[in-house]
Amino acid sequence: MIRIRPDLRYRPLCHDCGSPTGTVHSKGHLRIIRDLPLAGTDTWLQVGYRKVWCEECGGTRVEQLTFADANKRITYRLARYIYELCKIMTVEDVARHLDLNPKTVKAIDKIFLQKEFGRTDYTGLRILAIDEIALKKGHNYMTVVLDYLTGRVVWMGQGRSKETLDLFFGGMTEEQKATIEAVAIDMWEPYINRIQHYCPNAKIVFDMFHVVQAFGRVIDEIRREEYFNATLKDRMVIKGSRYLLLRNGENLSKEQRGRLYKLLGINATLHAVYVLKDQLKVIYHYRRRQATKRALESWCAMAEELDQPDLNRFVKRLRFFEYGILNHCDHSIGTSRLEGVNNKIKLIKRKAYGFHDDRYFALKIKQAFADKKSTNYLG
Ligand SMILES: [Zn+2]
Repeated sequence: MIRIRPDLRYRPLCHDCGSPTGTVHSKGHLRIIRDLPLAGTDTWLQVGYRKVWCEECGGTRVEQLTFADANKRITYRLARYIYELCKIMTVEDVARHLDLNPKTVKAIDKIFLQKEFGRTDYTGLRILAIDEIALKKGHNYMTVVLDYLTGRVVWMGQGRSKETLDLFFGGMTEEQKATIEAVAIDMWEPYINRIQHYCPNAKIVFDMFHVVQAFGRVIDEIRREEYFNATLKDRMVIKGSRYLLLRNGENLSKEQRGRLYKLLGINATLHAVYVLKDQLKVIYHYRRRQATKRALESWCAMAEELDQPDLNRFVKRLRFFEYGILNHCDHSIGTSRLEGVNNKIKLIKRKAYGFHDDRYFALKIKQAFADKKSTNYLG
């Protein structure tokens, strides 16, 4: 415990407005404030402070302290340390490390995040990728807007409706909207509608990542149906095979590959769908519109031969949204960045969504995907 007293050589300042004040209202107030650990020892400051009469505010105020907010229980430098730790550890870890309440740690982290990432920076946007993330499996969505060129998360908002994007585009100037050249999205009507409305000159691109992801959902549907229609013996093979079908073959272990081949061997529909998944990527190998169009058409024809309802619906969508697939020839938006972002967000979700605070979660994501020009808060 370090006891500190006001330096009487200086006039006290008002905590609220910062103006110097002449009249000390009362002295000898004490407050215990937690500070950074000193030489490995938990450290507190016993702060003596005054209350002052502030002309500016027209009332009694506590005096301003340079090292802490007199209304808070920790010093600025401890708060800053907590913020830094929260960049690399979970809130629970930081709380345990410093023996603080997790709610306190999270609140401090959020204050700093809010200062640094609370406002939307619309500058320099040319190519966007807009994506949805499910906070709970299958519902409670949030929309993420990524600056595709820098990898910065520009904005996050609740839901995945037209209104969600109204909020995003609503903050942009006409000039900023006009500089958007292309937007990569999933084949999702509310997004398409709003992009066409706000940025009529921007090209909508259904990139490979989103199309393969959409097809993954179709595979999942078909797998579920096949499971219900299978014999008991075959069910054992189909059960838990979701990731075998959805993952890239190269990323499977030898044992997993063995299980995949067994699955493909017993179920012709799943086998065909699995082949179609790889073939879908081939469409994106082409750079010329005509060639892409032909590849897409031949894929659709192959898929239709299976005459499977879920698959037929998907084919119908692909044909309907052909323009966005062909736009890939003008703006070849790579898959690895979008996939990387997607995976990293999932990781942050596991670590930071325990508080069920959408705002906090969004700020953590913006922090994790800030581009280099963002400066740290040094206040
Ligand atoms: Zn004041």
